[in-house]
Amino acid sequence: MTTQQRPFNFGPGPATLPAEVLQQAADELPNWHGSGMSVMEMSHRGPEFIAIYEHAVSGLRTLLDVPPDFHILFLQGGGIGENAIAPLNLSQGGVLDFILTGSWSRKSYEEAGRYASAARIAANGKASGHTGIPPAASWNISPDAAYVHLCSNETIQGVQFQELPDLAALGADVPLVVDCSSDIASRRFDWRRIGMAFAGAQKNLGPAGLTLVFVREALLGRALPICPSAFNYELVARNQSMYNTPPTWGIYLVGLMVDWMLRQREGDLSGLAALEVRNQRQAAKLYAALDASDFYINRVDPAVRSWMNVPFTLADAQRDEAFLDGAARRGLLQLRGHNSVGGMRASLYNAMTDEGVDALIAYLQDFERRQA
Ligand SMILES: *Cc1c(COP(=O)(O)O)cnc(C)c1O
Repeated sequence: MTTQQRPFNFGPGPATLPAEVLQQAADELPNWHGSGMSVMEMSHRGPEFIAIYEHAVSGLRTLLDVPPDFHILFLQGGGIGENAIAPLNLSQGGVLDFILTGSWSRKSYEEAGRYASAARIAANGKASGHTGIPPAASWNISPDAAYVHLCSNETIQGVQFQELPDLAALGADVPLVVDCSSDIASRRFDWRRIGMAFAGAQKNLGPAGLTLVFVREALLGRALPICPSAFNYELVARNQSMYNTPPTWGIYLVGLMVDWMLRQREGDLSGLAALEVRNQRQAAKLYAALDASDFYINRVDPAVRSWMNVPFTLADAQRDEAFLDGAARRGLLQLRGHNSVGGMRASLYNAMTDEGVDALIAYLQDFERRQA
């Protein structure tokens, strides 16, 4: 199948990957670099895989501009696993504050209450139906909090922090923990504002089964005694993510993805800066098309609309199935919204092309015209 023939995949995760990355993985699958082994068959302690690991870590550090006092860890357990693993490592049994902006931050809050002495809600966007984010100045942060948790991009509601809050400027001397599962590597982050960030790889970076954790050296050594060793950030960091067998195939694919991301260009920009411009352009185009019509609805405050996940509903939900069938026939896949909110969702991760977004917009307009 050539690049041109592939359908456009708008799935929320596991999600679309660049055809050239998949092709490279296919070419290298049975015999990686003449080693006589597939990456899946190699010892994680052998020289071949150590090279693959080091390539992925250093590539991520370069691409995302991760400061030297952060460790980059490769774990398993996904974003949902981190909802427990983060408090096991960082709560010290104390109080945690949560900024509730949608389904994912709520899930994190509910899970953390099992490991911290208290999980508190410092701000809640529920009153607006999570169409907005309460301004940081209104957050009620506990002075004794072990950390503040937020989700930088709510994959289901489609609300995104356009920039991360500066907790120190708010008078809170508290680490910030960020679930960036669905916007990691889609734009630049101000690492100075982050204590720890985590992300499942399967939205923007590779296959499911690999979780990335970016954690400051200063936050290591705080794990509760009951924290499983395989999830103890300090132990994993001191063992270069090889305390136990890491998800080797995922790490290899992240390395290929990072190479691809570093190759991307938009005008004079390259790497993450180029992807940021491209992602913002694609999202703006799609929101403009939705806003131009009464047939489609997205109620999220334009100031906090996600660049990665664009949920929308049809004014007449009776037409949902016809919309999805017609989309699939045109090679526009996985547009069904999350079952908790219904409607549609177009995810525009890094591997989504301008052609894919243009094809979706043309379909939106055609479908509306044919229903009139
Ligand atoms: C997908 C997602 C998760 C869940 O990840 P799993 O790998 O399924 O555990 C958590 N948080 C956010 C923001 C997500 O988008």
